[in-house]
Amino acid sequence: MNALNPSALHSAVFDHPEMGEHENIVFVKDRDSGLNAIIAVHDTTLGPALGGCRVWPYEKPADALTDALRLSRGMTYKNALAGLNLGGGKAVIIACPRKDKSQDMMEAFGSHVDRLSGTYITAEDVGVSPEDMEAVARRTDHVRGTSATGLGDPSPYTALGVFEGIRASARHVFGSAELDGRTVSVQGLGHVGFDVARQLADAGAKLVVSDIHAPAVERALDAFGATAVAADQAHCVDADIFVPCALGAGLNARTIPQIRARVVAGAANNQLQTPADGIALKRRGIHYAPDYAINAGGVISIALAKPGEDDGRVREKTLAIGDTLTRIFERAAREDTTPERVADKMAEERLAQSGN
Ligand code: NAD
Repeated sequence: MNALNPSALHSAVFDHPEMGEHENIVFVKDRDSGLNAIIAVHDTTLGPALGGCRVWPYEKPADALTDALRLSRGMTYKNALAGLNLGGGKAVIIACPRKDKSQDMMEAFGSHVDRLSGTYITAEDVGVSPEDMEAVARRTDHVRGTSATGLGDPSPYTALGVFEGIRASARHVFGSAELDGRTVSVQGLGHVGFDVARQLADAGAKLVVSDIHAPAVERALDAFGATAVAADQAHCVDADIFVPCALGAGLNARTIPQIRARVVAGAANNQLQTPADGIALKRRGIHYAPDYAINAGGVISIALAKPGEDDGRVREKTLAIGDTLTRIFERAAREDTTPERVADKMAEERLAQSGN
């Protein structure tokens, strides 16, 4: 057996730069199924920690720990800002979703979630399928988004919230939420992006669409009579609104000087490459809708769906994303700061009030 030097263990885990106020971090090894996982419970002030389970072939365990710590903290902020009575947590399984993952592995993961007695509630994330979640649900009730507990695919609710967030951003910046005749560049036409594009087209927006996957672009051109642009040019389009719905870190030192839209409001997670990029957007007079505020519709649908109930409550809470963004923009203007800083403060204030 490899003995780990105690000081190396200390610096790798306990002195990890992302180690914040996490309440509980569980390292799981199940020899029979080959499961290697980390479950991070960041904060349960507002309720049980809800956050997805990601299956990813991390190169090093330290990378998996970094992801678990960061993403669980992000869920605390996202759930708090969305007004949910839920804390933040996240699980990562170190495995290739195509080659290593098995139903046994997911069941073993479910058993370990169950041992946390409901302080952590799991759900789908990258590399996890609905069938995997059914396997988890065979071993624990602390799971959401399964056929028994949920409304199914959360993307339509994410898209609904993003569309409402775009309208709120337009109202703040242009004085009207009306999108008829506005030029909008949508980058990424997957589950969320395509649905946002559909709602924009229905509202009369002139669409410029892009994706690295050519059939996705063709489908949007056929459906919406849109114009296509190369995926790496989506941010440079002479548009009123830029809607990033692909991958993260798209707002960075290279792209920000080239953005011509006055609003950036889209679903992609972690859009700002660094905090300095938020300040750069503000300096250029570009209004950025903080990603975790505008894309919360999916987690709202996972959190609030009840078996046998329609989606009325979920839709109402998702549509409230527009009001939240309006409050964020107004306060950012009053305090002369960035919208993402205000979003963080609003989440922290909710946690502080509840913790008293
Ligand atoms: P998806 O995988 O269905 O779609 C992503 C699309 O982006 C694909 O069509 C892909 O070809 C395209 N793409 C990838 N790289 C690109 C690039 N460089 N330029 C242009 N297009 C590119 O994913 P999704 O579920 O639609 O999610 C989109 C984004 O929204 C992701 O960042 C995701 O993390 C975030 N998000 C999704 C949800 C949800 O409910 N699905 C919830 C919150 C946040």
